[in-house]
Amino acid sequence: MDVDVAVLGGGPGGYTAAIRAAQLGAKVACIEKEPELGGTCLRVGCIPTKAWVQTAYALKEAEEHFAKFGVQVGEATLDFAASNEWKAGVSKQMTGGVATLFKANGVEWVKGVGTFTDANTIAVDGGESVVFKSAIVASGSYPLRPPIDGLDSPRCVDSTGLLGQEQVPGRLVVLGGGIIGCEFASIFRRFGSEVTVVEMLDTLIPQEDADAAKELAKQFERRGISLHLGKQCTKVDDDGSQLTVHFGEGETVQADLMLVSVGRGPLVEGIGLEAAGVEFDRRTGVATDEHRRTSVPHIYAVGDCAGYWQLAHTAFREGEVAAENATGHEAVVDARAVPRPIYTDPEIAAVGLTEEQAREQYGDDVAVGRFPWIANARAVMQDETVGWVKSIHETRYGELLGLVMVGPHVTDLVEAGVIAIDAESTVETVADGIAPHPTLSEAIKEAGLVALGRPIHIARRKPRAQTTA
Ligand SMILES: Cc1cc2nc3c(=O)[nH]c(=O)nc-3n(C[C@H](O)[C@H](O)[C@H](O)COP(=O)(O)OP(=O)(O)OC[C@H]3O[C@@H](n4cnc5c(N)ncnc54)[C@H](O)[C@@H]3O)c2cc1C
Repeated sequence: MDVDVAVLGGGPGGYTAAIRAAQLGAKVACIEKEPELGGTCLRVGCIPTKAWVQTAYALKEAEEHFAKFGVQVGEATLDFAASNEWKAGVSKQMTGGVATLFKANGVEWVKGVGTFTDANTIAVDGGESVVFKSAIVASGSYPLRPPIDGLDSPRCVDSTGLLGQEQVPGRLVVLGGGIIGCEFASIFRRFGSEVTVVEMLDTLIPQEDADAAKELAKQFERRGISLHLGKQCTKVDDDGSQLTVHFGEGETVQADLMLVSVGRGPLVEGIGLEAAGVEFDRRTGVATDEHRRTSVPHIYAVGDCAGYWQLAHTAFREGEVAAENATGHEAVVDARAVPRPIYTDPEIAAVGLTEEQAREQYGDDVAVGRFPWIANARAVMQDETVGWVKSIHETRYGELLGLVMVGPHVTDLVEAGVIAIDAESTVETVADGIAPHPTLSEAIKEAGLVALGRPIHIARRKPRAQTTA
């Protein structure tokens, strides 16, 4: 089969690239080995986990809020089978949606395992080879497994294994306090598991703003999630009925299941990149420029196989950019305002610089304002007052540098900060704008007002050297 653009992988990076290239008039084939399109995100990542987050959220509403709000429904219990059915249905709807979009845009889905055999050909397992003018590599990533004795037990699962469980484990150990580990810890605590997180660094979600990570740790502990930070897991014993997880200096915890979530590596081996002449590194993936071009100018790479973000939404944008460049247009990825949503309870969402990064780059010319949800009417009526919104700007021109939020629905609210930072807005643009009342979104404006030293809905404090609230 001869095409203008061949895309290897049908996840967020690959399917977006395929659709965009077809929109621009190219003949496109997308090679995907799984029975559904959508990749990790739609099949075993973002979508099924957030379907479980929704179940966890509904349980919380029923357990903690309904009676308070005057709604009597009796005792809330988890029907895990029904929750799994819901999760599978959501995932199926989304993956089916991508197949429909392929048809609507005239993208050919080539089913099978693809391997580059030279710089213009992808051989497809059991099918016709795809000969291309340009190619976009979007092969994704795989879960890493550290070399710890005993981790090969079937009770030590990765995120896909945990998503496939049919029973809620009584005791769950989460190895790795990054985003995926924290999201599952949060879900399973709500589902009734005893949850223990073992993390070798001193903090949860180490790449995020330190205040946000601290707040999450505080709330996790309040929720009864046991945290062991700064501790290495050294060994796992499986006696046939349960696990004993060894960590730190001789500490142990018993568990029925262990989630191994210590990170994901780029899937770059075994797909023939050497034959195509594309340079790559096993740890960091395929190197590209801002056009997503690899060392071979007509071959592009996007998403988890070629970047450090490992987010579906960065893969989407990279896919668009690669497709536009592959079809003779000019586009670049601007990564200044990448939102960083974390679907724990409480949720975290941030964009732009963390406070630490802002102070590192701008020294004393940084102002920070924190507005607590307890002072926001909508959060109070939702009984969701844990956390705050932090606004970070530089004081020479007032440019907004970052927004960090912990609390209700912040993963949806963060887009306001994405637009503001992308548009190089000043803090005044945000703080002096008119936010709808009563909404959660008012807290973003109010955090800006705090940073400017003129809050309305919390008492004004004398600015401190480091932070104003
Ligand atoms: C549990 C979990 C939760 C997550 N939650 C979120 C979230 O909430 N938000 C977010 O932004 N990100 C989330 N992510 C990350 C997100 O899923 C990835 O960043 C995203 O899927 C990357 O897209 P991609 O297209 O690069 O790769 P993938 O989605 O991995 O797609 C790659 C595709 O290529 C196919 N493929 C690979 N090799 C070949 C081959 N040789 N031949 C044919 N096909 C091949 C694979 O089968 C796969 O379908 C989550 C990840 C996990 C694991």
